[in-house]
Amino acid sequence: MLLSVALLTACAHSTRLEDECRYSSNRTQFAFWSDVAEQMEVRIYDSFDTDVFETLMLRKGADNFWTAVAEGDQLGKFYTVRSFQNGEWAPESPGIFAKAVSVNGQRAAIIDMKTTDPAGWNMDTRPEMTDPTDVVVYETHLRDFTMSPNSGVAAKGKFLALTEEGTRTPDGLSSGIDHLREMGITHLQILPFFDYGSIDETALAVNRYNWGYDPVNYNVPEGGYSSDPYDPAARIRETKEMVMALHKAGIRVIMDVVYNHTYDAMGCALGRVVPLYFYRLNPDGTYANGSGCGNETASDHEMMRRFMVESVSYWAREYHIDGFRFDLMGIHDRETMRQIRAALDEIDPSILTYGEGWAAMTPAYPYDSLAMKQFTYTMPRVGAFSDDIRNALIGSPFDHERGFASGNPAGAKDVMRGLLACLEWAGEPMQHVSYITCHDNYCLRDRIAVSAPDESEDTQIRMNKLAQTAVLVSQGMSFIYGGEELYRTKRGIDNSYQSPDSINIIPWENKERYDLWKYYKEMIAIRRAHKGFRLGSAELVKNHVEFLSSDNDGLIIYSIKNLEGLDTARSLVVLLNGTPEIVTADIPEADYTVLAHDAEADARGLGHIQTGHIAVEPYSATILAEE
Ligand code: CA
Repeated sequence: MLLSVALLTACAHSTRLEDECRYSSNRTQFAFWSDVAEQMEVRIYDSFDTDVFETLMLRKGADNFWTAVAEGDQLGKFYTVRSFQNGEWAPESPGIFAKAVSVNGQRAAIIDMKTTDPAGWNMDTRPEMTDPTDVVVYETHLRDFTMSPNSGVAAKGKFLALTEEGTRTPDGLSSGIDHLREMGITHLQILPFFDYGSIDETALAVNRYNWGYDPVNYNVPEGGYSSDPYDPAARIRETKEMVMALHKAGIRVIMDVVYNHTYDAMGCALGRVVPLYFYRLNPDGTYANGSGCGNETASDHEMMRRFMVESVSYWAREYHIDGFRFDLMGIHDRETMRQIRAALDEIDPSILTYGEGWAAMTPAYPYDSLAMKQFTYTMPRVGAFSDDIRNALIGSPFDHERGFASGNPAGAKDVMRGLLACLEWAGEPMQHVSYITCHDNYCLRDRIAVSAPDESEDTQIRMNKLAQTAVLVSQGMSFIYGGEELYRTKRGIDNSYQSPDSINIIPWENKERYDLWKYYKEMIAIRRAHKGFRLGSAELVKNHVEFLSSDNDGLIIYSIKNLEGLDTARSLVVLLNGTPEIVTADIPEADYTVLAHDAEADARGLGHIQTGHIAVEPYSATILAEE
């Protein structure tokens, strides 16, 4: 027998789900939770693909953690766990909390996590952040961002792509991480980069694409983004290098997490280690399906809740992740979200938490206990995406109608609610994620093209700028889908989750062809320069914001006043014209710096006017700062 086995004495109070495998040079300790297993065993393999293994029987402790110790140095070996119940052995799995895995995540790897820290990691710090409403999130997928032959990046589609400085488009403009810095965004939200199942890591040359909303190992980075998916340490080290490079560039990192369902309920670790427990079931015993992906997890079950709390805490500590975007958050119960918030607060209260306050189908749990958007105010400092402002500005994803920014004045009322951060469901402005597009549904260019197909490209770009302007002057937290600033198109595909790179890549060549990105950049700078657009509390919003009356339903006049001591401007006036006409309006008589006008924007000012009357060009915003 290669392994001498010692049994751990009970240490019930301190056992964590994340302690499934604890390596040290003289022994490796295992601990797996199951309340139904009759036997459990670990198999230790010499390599990721050998059939030869040593078996280590686990012993059940009082807290339903099954433990064992493998004596000696197990570094570089791999393991699986399996459990026996109802007269049979369940298939092997890497456990629910593997921290390192072999290719395709089939076996967990025994590594020394300390050796995965890149040089300088202990000096890595989160960039400064004062208030969540100062945040401008840029969402991207690792392949979208750099797979284009015009990205100028060497490690295309990989974690390391975001560590390359000095990259250029074919026209010599900045690309990659330098482009993010140039745009002035504060946070990069990256589509799933935990280990997911839809890409075969042994066949990366095939270059398939997937968004990655199909979790396999929640606590390990995805091998497809690694330089070597066979090396368990590489993906871990490279993820840390990416985070560190972004932090150095002043950009925080938000992870898109998908705890609401798994790729495969029976075949994944959650389903194999403790069958059924981690999922909600229908009365007839079938898997409930609030995710629309075949199953939904049960955050209301104690150990699923603990799993989520420990998992986000682990990413925040081990990988220095600065925020979490919860996919289909409405499937999770609100108590779980509150506990996640509390756990992250112990690490760093500036870590962001927000998500989709809805589910794909009806979850199998009482609606009013779920983290649905309408209950956001009951979950302090957990935000939700505002489909209110989205649908009002560009139209609902369920039809092809125009929105306010594309010529439908019916949206005006909800645009105004969104500018105020929908404080009827958001308790505070930071709980309102202001956005018009994300990876889901049409990108902005395509959305405007399907809803206003007869308009010229020039007019469609004006609509694009107008819609994004409303997002960036809303009191909520700003969120932009990456590549919109480079006028990306998905050629009319509204669900590109497995479309090829040719559909999903950001077109870096457009940086020269269109100046849209300059407008976005200036609008981001305008937001960041003026506290009036991000007052930060419901009380300040109520005290300082009003809408001036307009004779035209398609003109919104948004006024932020009495800003002495808060902003460099005494007041701000934003006029949003969603009509094809020039619209005139009366505003308070004053000396103004013009920050935006006629589809142009400049944070330093386009000019000065003294007036009480203004003409707003078609489909555009005029923004005035009273000095
Ligand atoms: Ca994978």
